Amino acid sequence: MQWVFKSLRRYSHSIKYISNTSWIWLVIQSIVSLIIWNHVLTSLGYDFHKYDWYKPALLTIKDIIMDNAYTSYERFNIADFSPLVLALCYSLGMFSYYFTLYSVHSILYLCGISSSPRLIGWFFQPINYFLGFLCGLGGIILANFVSNYAFLTAYVWLTATHFPVPVLYTNTKFDTFLVFFNLFTFCFLRCYSSGFWSPWFRCIAPSEIIHEGSFAHESGWLHADSDHYVNEGQRLLIYHFAKKYGCHHCGLIKHQKDKVKFHGDHIPVTKHVKHGIRSLVAGNQKFYPQCEYCSNHQGCYVAKNKRYLRLHRFNSYRAWHLWIPTPLVYFLLVKFLVHQTESVSLIRYLFTSLKDYV
Ligand SMILES: [Zn+2]
Repeated sequence: MQWVFKSLRRYSHSIKYISNTSWIWLVIQSIVSLIIWNHVLTSLGYDFHKYDWYKPALLTIKDIIMDNAYTSYERFNIADFSPLVLALCYSLGMFSYYFTLYSVHSILYLCGISSSPRLIGWFFQPINYFLGFLCGLGGIILANFVSNYAFLTAYVWLTATHFPVPVLYTNTKFDTFLVFFNLFTFCFLRCYSSGFWSPWFRCIAPSEIIHEGSFAHESGWLHADSDHYVNEGQRLLIYHFAKKYGCHHCGLIKHQKDKVKFHGDHIPVTKHVKHGIRSLVAGNQKFYPQCEYCSNHQGCYVAKNKRYLRLHRFNSYRAWHLWIPTPLVYFLLVKFLVHQTESVSLIRYLFTSLKDYV
């Protein structure tokens, strides 16, 4: 029983981390301001039907994402979906996404490809730098296709009908949409979780122990110098980062009652800053939060001058591991675009859809 409570507490902590900028408030504020603006503009005599300035843009988007062969959306309305069926299909899609991403992660570990964001490091680091990017990109596309397949197949199992989107691999525009929408959402969620300048795909790969890890946050570091370790104030900040962003190599998040110690990790490692060619390109050292397990491995391997890749923990999930149900997004987007390009005002469309569903 205690184990169940402990797991629930950890899970709620992770959710809290994912929603740390209180996105719920953002949604509520947006709806309230939409209602207010609707009333203000209508009372000022603004006619949404008359000033449909956004239509050319919407027609272009419609042309990019759908072709005339796709008509099955016409027979379906948003209210026709069962929330339970959607939830089950999404759960399967989400599980497939995370599982495939972790499988790709493990394969990259076996192939010795890391997520290091630096161009110079160990001998083959320049090659690793590009391979990490390409393999991460490929892994995300693969995971997305597996999830879409799982989502659509589960829908057929549960309802004995096809989900109202084109069949996979038969419609180029739909397949292209699936790939690009997923890559876009991945970059967006990665920025949201790790900072604006870190949207790239190599974070799927294991962490290089001598460089910034896959979980390093853009703001989760402190200035360091090679001769001193963290002082008391810096130690408190490192613990603060450890609770918020976790260990930058394995992703372990510091929980209140856990006895795991966290250290300020010198990146690049001090040995590389002091001697050799690497010292010329190392730049200023920074402290990143690092758990004691990764720290012990790092000390051991750096002393032996050996390369070491750190696998991510299976439960180190972040916002960028989230799968957005792309077939459902496609269906909703098509419905929206078709309605909008047929003289139905934006706000009326949103309210009617919401009312239909509720
Ligand atoms: Zn760690």
